[in-house]
Amino acid sequence: MTGYLHIQAEPLRRLVREIFVAAGCAPEEGARIAKYLVQANLTGHDSHGVIRVPRYLQWMDEGRLRPNQTITVVQDSGAMALVDGNFGFGQTIGPQAVQLGIDKAKAAGVAVVALRSSGHLGRIGDWAEMAAAANQVSIHFVNVAGSILVAPFGAAERRLSTSPMAVGVPVPDGPPLVLDFATSLVAEGKVMVAFNGGKPLPEGSLIDRDGTPSADPSVFYGTQDRSQAPDPRRGTGAIRAMGEHKGSGLSFMIELLAGALTGSGCCGPGPRRLSNGMLSIYLPAETFDGENRLAAEVRDYVAYFKSARPAVADGEVLVPGEPEQRSIETRSAEGIPLTDATWQAIRRAAEGVGLSRDTIDQTLTDAAST
Ligand code: NAD
Repeated sequence: MTGYLHIQAEPLRRLVREIFVAAGCAPEEGARIAKYLVQANLTGHDSHGVIRVPRYLQWMDEGRLRPNQTITVVQDSGAMALVDGNFGFGQTIGPQAVQLGIDKAKAAGVAVVALRSSGHLGRIGDWAEMAAAANQVSIHFVNVAGSILVAPFGAAERRLSTSPMAVGVPVPDGPPLVLDFATSLVAEGKVMVAFNGGKPLPEGSLIDRDGTPSADPSVFYGTQDRSQAPDPRRGTGAIRAMGEHKGSGLSFMIELLAGALTGSGCCGPGPRRLSNGMLSIYLPAETFDGENRLAAEVRDYVAYFKSARPAVADGEVLVPGEPEQRSIETRSAEGIPLTDATWQAIRRAAEGVGLSRDTIDQTLTDAAST
């Protein structure tokens, strides 16, 4: 692994905001992109953090991602809405679609919002956390049309996107319980992190074109020039679906729910515009909890679950969302670790949109090399 630089969240947010404003985003949008990317780093999901900056800029350049968009409501019938994200930034489109779902669920008791053609929605747990902050349980299924990266169970070639899902349950006076994962063995961003010299992949996360399991990111990205944004179209291998036939089946169904049902489109042959589709279900606690027992039941079950005897000495049983909360505490104090390759790629991206070295270096002075 290469060396790391530690940068505090606030200077990093400032730099990312300035990069996107220089690239053509409104200041509010630049701030939202910075907020969610840095939050992903804080939660420990570097795969969905600032490592994405060069790729978002490339997608803007190619016209695949459009700045300053708002959702269009295509269909609205009480508890249900179908909305179009117009290929806008997911950091703008996501909160709009989720707020609509929260408002509808408050009014109707429950709600379903189908979002199509959104730009990259980042860490899907963000949307479950937003609903939980409004005291709503929520479930989100997401696919990525135009991004065929994952081999189904039994296959040696790509047919699925990384199709993440998230479930959030609010906890009074505490962080919500949030399960949030890609249905591939690893999220694509984790392959990118490994390719950039960061945390290596678990053995067998990938499969090469001959069907042999691998952990080498060049199976997936090819042996391309590392000064360019990693592009999975240059590799011949695939990420493996999680959980053998069960995970592969779940991923298949998410393609249908988030891609076919929303109208966003599933993975398929031929060129397709890159976008996230998301089917979200909102279940306000008060709709189901007339006797006011939910909070105590959740608290008791969490305690029972965590009391299980660890399988290894010094082991610990964690509930969904707990690793992210711990990471936020550590990284808020110690800064966000970025590999040299990731930091240099961000610097080049910043210079590419016209930021001066002085502006960038001002941020660097807030960082401490380790
Ligand atoms: P992951 O494999 O790290 O799993 C994360 C989930 O597992 C979290 O809910 C976490 O709380 C829980 N967890 C982790 N370690 C645990 C432990 N020891 N005990 C109990 N629970 C534990 O996540 P991933 O699959 O690498 O996904 C990373 C991120 O990528 C997610 O935020 C996902 O939404 C995002 N993603 C987004 C897209 C997109 O198109 N927008 C696509 C794929 C993935």
